[in-house]
Amino acid sequence: MSHSQASSGNPLPQVKNVIAVGAGKGGVGKSTVALNLAMGLSRLGHKTGLMDGDIYGPSMPTMLGIRGTPPQLDGGHLVPFFVHGIHAVTIGALVEADKPLIWRGPMAHGAFKQLLVDQTKWPELDYLIVDLPPGTGDVPLSLCQLLPLKGAVVIATPQQVALDDAIRAVSMFKTLNAPVLGIVENMSYFVSPEGSISDIFGRGGAQKTAQELGIPFLGELPMFPELRINSDNGNPTRNFEGDPRLREALETIANNLVAQVNLQQMQGGEIRLNVK
Ligand code: ADP
Repeated sequence: MSHSQASSGNPLPQVKNVIAVGAGKGGVGKSTVALNLAMGLSRLGHKTGLMDGDIYGPSMPTMLGIRGTPPQLDGGHLVPFFVHGIHAVTIGALVEADKPLIWRGPMAHGAFKQLLVDQTKWPELDYLIVDLPPGTGDVPLSLCQLLPLKGAVVIATPQQVALDDAIRAVSMFKTLNAPVLGIVENMSYFVSPEGSISDIFGRGGAQKTAQELGIPFLGELPMFPELRINSDNGNPTRNFEGDPRLREALETIANNLVAQVNLQQMQGGEIRLNVK
């Protein structure tokens, strides 16, 4: 039982597996991977939700193609959008981007709880993927603390400077006693539209770090111009219907995550949060 569960019961009893997706810093493709992981799980037949808690990078409405669509309300509760096969709530659609002050310190906790948990009608789900704010500060920590996490996924790019940040993210989840289910290496290498491959950032860096930290490696996602274009166009379904290499990379990551969740389940089930 988590810290929040102990004090107030499980806030999301209808969700089997709540999984946080974090990164040591912004810009590594955390939101992109979180969304496509949710898509991959849904395409494997799991009922999947996406909680977009990244208040600093409100890119999810664009990536889902729902920018400007008013949220649907039911008796004062928010009903998640159902798009591309996933149930999604994006905080970017709910808060004013020019009011970042409320996100400092403990107030973030209350705002997240109210917007994403108490006032949202999440359906029964096999997986709820939570796109955390980047970094390892108070704000991502607050969001993790209120959720009954099954585990966490860390997104990293392969170069050493980015890996140092990823190691900090892994430490954050360890402090929370949230099992790190794996690392995903994003932007492993570049695939040109003609199909040639360039190693830009040092392919394999994140895999090596995962090995050193004793954490599972969930897979590599190369840089595909097509992925960026589909994201900008709000059409993530295309990622699974165009270049088979892109689809295979995304499916591998989703399959490996399911395997790690099942393993985790066999080893001990719910995690305990011991943050003082
Ligand atoms: P973060 O959430 O870490 O800040 P985003 O997911 O918003 O990062 O990604 C930043 C930008 O990089 C976006 O324009 C996104 O489309 C692009 N991007 C991320 N990963 C890839 C990739 N593997 N191939 C191509 N573009 C990518």
